[in-house]
Amino acid sequence: MTRMLIIGPPGSGKGTQAERVSAGMGIVAISTGDIFRANVKGETPLGLEAKKFMDAGDFVPDSVTNKMVRDRLQQPDVAEGFLLDGYPRTTAQVDELADILTSNGQELDVVLQLTADDEELVKRLLGRAADLGRSDDNETVIRHRLDLYHEQTEPVVARYADAGVLVQVDGIGAIDEVTERVMAAIKGESAL
Ligand code: AMP
Repeated sequence: MTRMLIIGPPGSGKGTQAERVSAGMGIVAISTGDIFRANVKGETPLGLEAKKFMDAGDFVPDSVTNKMVRDRLQQPDVAEGFLLDGYPRTTAQVDELADILTSNGQELDVVLQLTADDEELVKRLLGRAADLGRSDDNETVIRHRLDLYHEQTEPVVARYADAGVLVQVDGIGAIDEVTERVMAAIKGESAL
């Protein structure tokens, strides 16, 4: 049973690694970005609310995001553990997650950060934008998302480092190599 987070800048491949880790460890992966995108596609009230922020490369407001995650973490499939991908991204979200976990009688085992150089990320994201046509992947928006990561999400990482649960993995390299590093780092960190 493992409860963990994966944190990384946009373009670091955290979604891909999250899917592999969740399959390898038999825990559900919960991606806030995927939940938002599904709601945008389905034109739900949540999707309509989130879309304008996502298109601008901004964070969806904490009030909206926190409620969504709180609801998701009450579902029965998280009882065997979970991997949260893309949450928390702000220190207010860190506090909210701590509160949710405390009320569920749960604790985090490990927080994994994927690291990568900004210029490499911009290159990757521009390539992905051309392939997938994501509306949040033009260069201005990409740089804005990276700035937000440095300003708002690095303090999140620092909080988990202080708490002694952070492991860092180099996210540059072939997908399989990065997965090997990630699995080794997780196994080294927690008594699985
Ligand atoms: P991602 O796929 O994780 O890069 O998320 C795509 C977009 O969804 C982000 O750029 C934000 O607009 C929104 N989003 C995802 N997770 C969060 C979060 N924890 N807080 C605020 N906005 C989020």
